[in-house]
Amino acid sequence: MKPKAYIKTFGCQMNEHDTFQMRNVLEAEGYDFTDAAEDAALILLNTCSVRQNPENKVYSFLGQIRECKQANPEVIIGVGGCVAQQEGKTILKREKSVDLVFGPDTLFRLPEMLEEVKGGARVCHTEWMPRERKIQNFIPERWVEHGHVEGVKAYISITKGCNNMCTFCIVPTTRGREVSREHDNILREARALVERGAKEIWLLGQNVNSYRSSAEYRFYELLDELSQIEGLHRIRFTSPHPKDWNNALSDLMASRKNICNQLHLPFQAGSDRILEAMRRNHTLDEYLEKVAYLQAAVPTVELSTDLIVGFPGESDEDFERTLHCLRTVGFSQIFPFKYSQRPGTPAAAMEDDVPREAKEERLARVIALQDEITAARQETYVGRVEEVLIDGAHSRMRNFMNGRTDGYKPITIEDPTLEIGDIVQARVVSHRGHWLIGERIETPSPALA
Ligand code: SF4
Repeated sequence: MKPKAYIKTFGCQMNEHDTFQMRNVLEAEGYDFTDAAEDAALILLNTCSVRQNPENKVYSFLGQIRECKQANPEVIIGVGGCVAQQEGKTILKREKSVDLVFGPDTLFRLPEMLEEVKGGARVCHTEWMPRERKIQNFIPERWVEHGHVEGVKAYISITKGCNNMCTFCIVPTTRGREVSREHDNILREARALVERGAKEIWLLGQNVNSYRSSAEYRFYELLDELSQIEGLHRIRFTSPHPKDWNNALSDLMASRKNICNQLHLPFQAGSDRILEAMRRNHTLDEYLEKVAYLQAAVPTVELSTDLIVGFPGESDEDFERTLHCLRTVGFSQIFPFKYSQRPGTPAAAMEDDVPREAKEERLARVIALQDEITAARQETYVGRVEEVLIDGAHSRMRNFMNGRTDGYKPITIEDPTLEIGDIVQARVVSHRGHWLIGERIETPSPALA
């Protein structure tokens, strides 16, 4: 019988993708997978340090699975990802049940690291891959054409690391300096994923649109070539940085059907003073000008953002600028956070001077305003016809299938004949929370269209 592995993923899409890579590597080593940690011979945590209290979450989960090791001392417990990169051997010291700690750059060395553990060692490998050049094919060759397709979706890492040094962010420390893959290497991976059934590909990078494989070949050229791959129905990417977004990219989105009308473009704060303290390298006006151009070029575009309230020094007036940005853009979704100090970031040296009550009040106002905006936007969908890519069954309602519109709105449609991977037209009949409810409509035959 094959040994079973259980992987718990914390955090973002980048981490989900790393988990898929871990699964690939372990599958090749003869592992099967289980959803129950207590049935596993190998338990891995793929950790994320971007959100609040990530270390606490990791240690609390390690506390929960400690009994698996007590019940069976042969079980191997490993911690990978950004918290592992940051904490390193501290994890081994604090949690005796952990056998292995590894960073994002050593993920593909899992087989040899597991051998070390089986040999009786407690192992920590958080070395960086050498970064002699800004171009680096950091996915080992054997995996380039064997990426994982999850249902209809696949991810491709096009850059790794970040050079931006935003003062609140730990990523440059945990993921290192930015490197980009050669574009031929990425295109090869994309074509192979489409052949393996991917209809939607997400391009991933901490700062995805700063991609460049040469002075002449940047994110624009890559998107342009990817959008010409036959059979690739949808391309999405995350997360772009506003300073690296430009009108040419908006025009490209407008001109290519398979570059989805969706953009997660984090503005973080509305005040230029705070944006400067965050070291974001753009002003609010620059952000709004780019967004206005995009909304004119692609009227159906759906925008989302991350934002932080209560960053050090944020006054009531600064905060009002954040609300102004929300009203002006009309995001379909926001991911708001109360500022909290992250050790190891430049902002941790700043005085965390916005009182907790003020942060909470600002967060509540942001959420209340966005709720109004979301409700009004949802209403505008009723009666609209959307193209939907079906990606799963509804968890509770029989005969309903779920999917995403081009703009990434979740939608559910009652139609038992639908299958995962179908691309259909649906008329929106109502909405509930973030969800749209649709009814399938017949697509006119090509002769009539
Ligand atoms: S762009 Fe800024 S927020 Fe994004 S990963 Fe880089 S440093 Fe962090």
